[in-house]
Amino acid sequence: MKTGSERLTEVKPAASPRRVGRPRTTETGGASLALLMGLVRNGMATTRLDLERQAELGRAVITDRLEMLETLGILAEGEMGRAEGGRAPRLIRFCEEVGSVLVAVVERSSLAVALTDLAGNFIVEHHEPTELARGPDAILDRLTTLFIWLLDERGGKQQVWGIGLSLPEPVLIDTMDGDAFGIPDLAALKAWRQYDFGVELSLRFGAPSWVRSGVQTMTIGEWKAGGAKGASDVLFVKLGRSICASIVSNGRLHSGSQGSAGLIGHAPTGESSTRICRCGSKGCLEVMASGEAIEEEGLLAAKTGRSRYLAETLELNGEVTDVDVGHGAQLGDGFCAELLTRCGRLVGEAMAPLANLLNPAVVILGGSVAQSGEVLLAAVREALYRQGHPLITRSLRIVRSQLGVTAGLIGSAHVVLDEIFAPASAQEWVLHGSPRKEPAFMARMDAARARSRQAARQPRPPTPSTD
Ligand SMILES: [Zn+2]
Repeated sequence: MKTGSERLTEVKPAASPRRVGRPRTTETGGASLALLMGLVRNGMATTRLDLERQAELGRAVITDRLEMLETLGILAEGEMGRAEGGRAPRLIRFCEEVGSVLVAVVERSSLAVALTDLAGNFIVEHHEPTELARGPDAILDRLTTLFIWLLDERGGKQQVWGIGLSLPEPVLIDTMDGDAFGIPDLAALKAWRQYDFGVELSLRFGAPSWVRSGVQTMTIGEWKAGGAKGASDVLFVKLGRSICASIVSNGRLHSGSQGSAGLIGHAPTGESSTRICRCGSKGCLEVMASGEAIEEEGLLAAKTGRSRYLAETLELNGEVTDVDVGHGAQLGDGFCAELLTRCGRLVGEAMAPLANLLNPAVVILGGSVAQSGEVLLAAVREALYRQGHPLITRSLRIVRSQLGVTAGLIGSAHVVLDEIFAPASAQEWVLHGSPRKEPAFMARMDAARARSRQAARQPRPPTPSTD
């Protein structure tokens, strides 16, 4: 087995003389390299002197580690900075172009992919419609094709340092508890159970991957770069085909003990409804105010003539969507305005106890229903201000998602970059030049390859002809 110091000389030619302070074990070498990389990447150090002060390491050690990080292509010393007394120092920068991050957001009916550099800057972004019912294999193959297309211009797979994937929350919930909760209407989605998207993508692209739910990545996106930027307490509510929330508390995403926090779609509204929710109860918020509920009521109003606008839409498009109802409300259609006002009130009333509990600085409404216009947003605000405690609501901002469909992509990129560059993780891979070569990751990939070879050898159980 190689020792850490031998590994270090792998990076540079063996002929180079051993320097003072060169790390003798992988651990200490990785730690000091990761520390310097982090200081430059976070903008806390731009010169050798900054690094000496911030890292509290000697000049010889700094020189040695910098040389190594430059050889690895991670840091570069370039233009002259401002002189403080003596000679002007050279500025050190983090080479964000040395690697890239692939991200994907899979929704029930759409797919989005993007390529970013190591600073999270978007280089290419692409959106297209899809159907989850096509099954995980088809979605994975499409993602692979799109990822390869994104990478074509950027030096191929070798550049990928990490992959971030956002999946619709019902898929995650279904995977976790093993029953059809969340998606009884889509039998085909049962195929998603036990399907490890992250490992599959890692095997195909040779880079570590992280999977989060759609509402979590949207929340992270809005928190890091959108309507909640700079806030440490955020309540994000996704109003789409399902209704769910996600919470940032004291600068950390709250996931809950099983990662299922935020299922506010099943808060009882107290309204009478004949429809039964997928959770088995009646009168859940989701049954009353989700995109699906709005579409169903809109369709009925179009057919019975209660809404002239929706009747015309149905005749023209053959369907009524939640977005159509939003347009109708904006154009002054009485039925549409009334429906969205009621939905907004129910959502606001369900959120008020949450706001009282969490005291967020910002409430962000995302998802297709939130984009349906001002009528719904005004009703949410009114209910939340009416039912929230004055101490909670006096400086509370309630806004619509600023980033829309891109929020999930931005959030996924942040998940990957935060994981890769967390000091504990960075010190494990930095000596090897990229997270692709981190020993523990490579061992996991070897194990996954062995498992799939074994699975391929096993005879498949016969498929029953009926259910
Ligand atoms: Zn329910």
